Amino acid sequence: MKERQTIIYIMSNQRSGSTLIENILSKSPQMVSVGESFLLSGHIQKIGPGSAWDWNCSCGSSLMECEFWNKVYQKLNISDPLTITNTMIVPPKGKDARRQKEMNSEAKSLMNQIYGAIFEITNCCVLVDSSKEAYYGTSLYHNSPFNFKFIHLKRDLRAVSISKYNWRKKYNRKDVGLIKLLLANYLHRLKCKIMLRRVDKSDVFNLNYEEIFINPQKTLNDMSKFFGFDSYDVPEYMELNNDHTIAGTLNRFKKTKIKYDDRWESVAKKRPFFNVLGYVLNKIG
Ligand SMILES: [Zn+2]
Repeated sequence: MKERQTIIYIMSNQRSGSTLIENILSKSPQMVSVGESFLLSGHIQKIGPGSAWDWNCSCGSSLMECEFWNKVYQKLNISDPLTITNTMIVPPKGKDARRQKEMNSEAKSLMNQIYGAIFEITNCCVLVDSSKEAYYGTSLYHNSPFNFKFIHLKRDLRAVSISKYNWRKKYNRKDVGLIKLLLANYLHRLKCKIMLRRVDKSDVFNLNYEEIFINPQKTLNDMSKFFGFDSYDVPEYMELNNDHTIAGTLNRFKKTKIKYDDRWESVAKKRPFFNVLGYVLNKIG
């Protein structure tokens, strides 16, 4: 194992299996997973995404009460966690660009301190961050004091679109057509690609969601070689195990067998135009 503390940052679209990868990696004794650190301040303040689990830590406690996160605040001499108001780094735009740049640099400095505190508290040498966001991840990457690496996780655009469509329906969100979702997901993929152009290729592990299930152990062994951690047996189930992670898919709360979810395929077959367009966009990359 390398001496230097390593961050594995999962960059992906939503509904692409980032929680699954994070969960598999968190089973290594060398690794600690924080979930989506991008949403940490939102979970502390109870605003933004996370209302479905009342913005609690995955251990079930609130971010004010969780034992693990309290150790982090203590390490950073933060007596009131509510003073953590921004852990997001977003592209500066328009007339507030200057202020946003300042906020971004504050958030970056805070996140690096949080990462450092977690390494110290856990004695782990690898930290997994599944924030997914491209701009946030690449901003943390540049001039990082850590050995900062990416998993660029991609899933079939049709599967992502259908999964998002179903989730929107379930949570009574505004109805958006499948073609529109497909194009939006393709644009998201392009955005990730553009952001990764400024990242050293040797720092990016490219992973297709579908490939994981062909030979999960091989995928894990490849990751262990790439990131420099010791390999171990792939778990059979996705389950929380004394984790203190922020956000992620709702499915993480129930123990589920790790297997390929092909339910989207029959839905796609019934929509030939969507199916072919998705196929072509996948091929373009
Ligand atoms: Zn917790």
